[in-house]
Amino acid sequence: MSIVDPAHVRQVEAIANGTVIDHIPADMTLKVANLLAQGDDQVFIGINLRSSRVGRKGVVKISGREIVGRDASALALIAPSATICIIRNYQVISKQQVEVPPWFDDIARCANPNCVTNHERWPTRFGVVVANPLTVRCTYCERSFDAGELSLLA
Ligand SMILES: [Zn+2]
Repeated sequence: MSIVDPAHVRQVEAIANGTVIDHIPADMTLKVANLLAQGDDQVFIGINLRSSRVGRKGVVKISGREIVGRDASALALIAPSATICIIRNYQVISKQQVEVPPWFDDIARCANPNCVTNHERWPTRFGVVVANPLTVRCTYCERSFDAGELSLLA
């Protein structure tokens, strides 16, 4: 009988080039995959993987694309605890915690049905009130929301 150390078992297939989003809260994993997957992207998803840091976690791997800019900001809204690893030629060339930007511009819909952004075609804007747990305030109606209350714009 052999004893396998779980820390040394690769739980999701490695990718040659692209992005690995790790330490996603397990229940947000599919949301993250939906947010980041585009066109013909190959996406690998692991849910309920063991993690010493967050208990049960999710991992999403996007082959062939590096997640930066607006996509990374949107990620901060739904999985601020996640880490983003950029992979080139099977090597991790950068690994960092998702950065919560000071503003979320035109990324999420305001959850206040009376907010002007739900009636006029205005770009939405939320400022960060508390970074952890993430709480944001709509610039237009000035209501504050937990990040989980907001839905992302397409
Ligand atoms: Zn609003």
